[in-house]
Amino acid sequence: MSVSIFLVSCKDNTKPVEKDTYLMGTIIQLKVYGKNAEKAANESIKRINNIESKMSVNIGTSEISKLNAKAGVSGEKLSSDTYGVIEESVKYSKLTGGALDASIEPIVKLWGIGTEKERLPSKTEINEKLKLVDYRDIIFDKKNSNVKIRRANQAIDLGAIAKGYTADEIKKVLIDNKISSALINLGGNVFALGNKPDGTSWNIGIQNPLSSRGEYLGTIKVTNKSVVTSGNYERFFIKDGVRYHHIFNPKTGYPAEQGLISTTIISDKSIDGDALSTSTYILGLDKGLKLVESIKGVEAIFITKDKKIYTTPGLNDTFDLTNKEFTYEKGR
Ligand code: ADP
Ligand code: MG
Repeated sequence: MSVSIFLVSCKDNTKPVEKDTYLMGTIIQLKVYGKNAEKAANESIKRINNIESKMSVNIGTSEISKLNAKAGVSGEKLSSDTYGVIEESVKYSKLTGGALDASIEPIVKLWGIGTEKERLPSKTEINEKLKLVDYRDIIFDKKNSNVKIRRANQAIDLGAIAKGYTADEIKKVLIDNKISSALINLGGNVFALGNKPDGTSWNIGIQNPLSSRGEYLGTIKVTNKSVVTSGNYERFFIKDGVRYHHIFNPKTGYPAEQGLISTTIISDKSIDGDALSTSTYILGLDKGLKLVESIKGVEAIFITKDKKIYTTPGLNDTFDLTNKEFTYEKGR
């Protein structure tokens, strides 16, 4: 999987502690500045491992795997981490009218995109699995921190939102260690903490979704913000000339095709950015822009198949298009 956002430049003499590793099925890059950087970075990696061990559907002993295995039978007592992320995922499932759906797992598993089992399923298979997808079947018991899934074979997948939560949690670890300048990149889910050590804002590149590796088409300057991108170029396979990617429309069971190839959300909290980048990808340009504009403090960059870039008005002076093959329609 490619990393969709990256630091463009940082011209100063302060040397960061850098940690690159592979966790949560993606490339993790931490760049931490300051006196406690080494300790802060190590604690951050531990925290990522900890969250992954609770929320991954690929780890048999995770809380999510245990909860899914009990679907239709009984509930599972969860850590506040997992309980909270399921709550957020269902909140966004409601807010997006089911464009995001916390219970998408049967569809994700059927397609197996990014795994050895990836394949184009038959329409019959898809329709069978679609019957299981309905976030309203996730039943919360807040007092006991317990979640139950109503019907057998239904299952939760937090892939659209867990990395955003993780970025927010790493931010906390860094702040607890008195770090005021850092860049967290969880496979394109970025949090830019504070400013660069020289006091200027971070310059974040937005990946060109049409180029296969690491090229950016424009940049934005941010301070203390989350920048999250979802795209069809991250995990996909091609069959008979058709690209099948990993963001599904829960109404059809097929990869979402609404004319967008990349969505980027800039927000204070990365969990919101992660949920909204996936959701707006599924909703498409018009509904996506409407949704983002209805939420205070959230900005977006949407890129369409026909190489047009749209942003919310708040980015008109900040987004700098560098690749002239794309045209930029400023927000109104
Ligand atoms: P990435 O993991 O590449 O950063 P996203 O944040 O956009 O990308 O999340 C994609 C993941 O979300 C998929 O791999 C899958 O686990 C999950 N997912 C796909 N479609 C949906 C959906 N409609 N609702 C909720 N989760 C989804
Ligand atoms: Mg997401």
